[in-house]
Amino acid sequence: MTSRRQFIKLSALASSLFAFNKSKANELIINHSKKTIKPIVISTWRFGVEANAEAWKILSTQGRSLDAVEAGVKIPEADPKERSVGYGGRPDRDGRVTLDACIMDEYSNIGSVGCLEHIVHPISVARAVMEKTPHTMLVGEGALDFALSQGFKKENLLVKESEDEWKEWLKKAEYKPKANIENHDTIGMVALDMNGNLSGACTTSGMAFKMHGRIGDSPIIGAGLFVDNEIGAATATGHGEEVMRIVGSHTVVELMRQGYSPEEACKKAVERIITIAKNKNKSLDELQIGFIAINKKGEHGAYCLQKGFNYAVYSPEINNQLIDAKHII
Ligand code: ASP
Repeated sequence: MTSRRQFIKLSALASSLFAFNKSKANELIINHSKKTIKPIVISTWRFGVEANAEAWKILSTQGRSLDAVEAGVKIPEADPKERSVGYGGRPDRDGRVTLDACIMDEYSNIGSVGCLEHIVHPISVARAVMEKTPHTMLVGEGALDFALSQGFKKENLLVKESEDEWKEWLKKAEYKPKANIENHDTIGMVALDMNGNLSGACTTSGMAFKMHGRIGDSPIIGAGLFVDNEIGAATATGHGEEVMRIVGSHTVVELMRQGYSPEEACKKAVERIITIAKNKNKSLDELQIGFIAINKKGEHGAYCLQKGFNYAVYSPEINNQLIDAKHII
């Protein structure tokens, strides 16, 4: 028979377990009941709207998420007015436009290029690395040689506006990347197709006036992008050096595996970056980090460090709208 003391102990344990589960339950918003929302595509910043529209053409006609994300991010890559991605991207401090991109599909196939020059569509070169080589990442001249061997055309990516800005920058030559001034925004896109498969793509010209050879988080699988077809997909934008420290997109997906909603997972990853920055006495003022994520149920979410980051969502429920991400400071 249970003694009174044992009974009290057991009920104390039960109520503390209940309290834990209750607080945990408040944090973990798991959609067990609702049916999967698909297809869905989400992408970073305002250029995500046009990119989503292109991806939607494929997703809404039963196409594969991999094809959708590649087609989607090619829109800002080809647009010279988008000066932080692809053609027209701002150069490094030597005046060279160097591009980073990666892609990942539902089978965990991955392809990536870093510091690639002269090619308008680094995302397609990343896909070719994934599909046509025994490797997962090519950088610099090797990446360019490979691209040319695959029939990509060599082009001048430096547009006049970017060149003028670079010449102006050279007068002081101070490297101080700022938050939300769009001189380094990446397009990251993740999608769930009608077959319930996830893929993602991420492409950027990186931080304007970076050192030549600098590679950010965007082409690093796990940092700039991560897809796990059982769980979800995430991608990042903002100061790549900070995202890399926590392998940010992988962290977001692993948090979703633990049961966090996409929004909560993104928030926790941003908080981790803040903790690290604070421990280093690094000012958060000019720092920006944004994560976006979807899970296998087609739920989406985002979080950023400071106000100003937005992302575009296209699903059967949301008609390609730009949404302001919640922010921590
Ligand atoms: N994450 C990119 C990089 O560090 C830049 C950005 O998205 O703002 O190169």
